[in-house]
Amino acid sequence: MLWDDFINSLHHDWKGDGAIDDRLDKPEWLEQWLKDQHLSADQPPNSKELQDLKDLRTLLHRIVTQYVENSLPREEDVEALNSIMALGPVIRRLAISQNQYQLQWQGVNRQWTHIRAEIAASMAQQIAEGEPSRIRICDNPNCLWVYVDATRNRSKKYCDDKMCGNLMKVRRFRERQKAAVNMPKHEHD
Ligand SMILES: [Zn+2]
Repeated sequence: MLWDDFINSLHHDWKGDGAIDDRLDKPEWLEQWLKDQHLSADQPPNSKELQDLKDLRTLLHRIVTQYVENSLPREEDVEALNSIMALGPVIRRLAISQNQYQLQWQGVNRQWTHIRAEIAASMAQQIAEGEPSRIRICDNPNCLWVYVDATRNRSKKYCDDKMCGNLMKVRRFRERQKAAVNMPKHEHD
């Protein structure tokens, strides 16, 4: 989905110390990302547009955090999401491609404004039509990947059980071992 993929552009070093790598700062990453999401921009964002993107990401993260904490997003955050969507009206048009008509949605305003509106709309759709109560943040404190828990019993704690799940299992095991070693001997029989 557009919204969670976008939030996760703020990448954390999940195997290490959680160091942050902001992929929005990398023009090649951004270009590939747009392509993957079927969006397009003729030019990389200027510094104002880049800051607007980062502000949107912060806003989405605040909304996500509210859902993770079992509450609804704050009214002012929803208002902010609405204003970003309002800046991105679209024109629908039929366009021919390989002898077949396709419906295209064309942004009316500047490209990055339109892209921001599309990202905001994807979050809005998750809130209204998806199941926002399934939104999670990975339990590995160095990872914090945002995802939607699609499991039947809604019990998914990690972005990936084989990666973060295993890493945390190993970490807990080592902590227990360390605790056992440090236990004063005379308290045992
Ligand atoms: Zn994770």
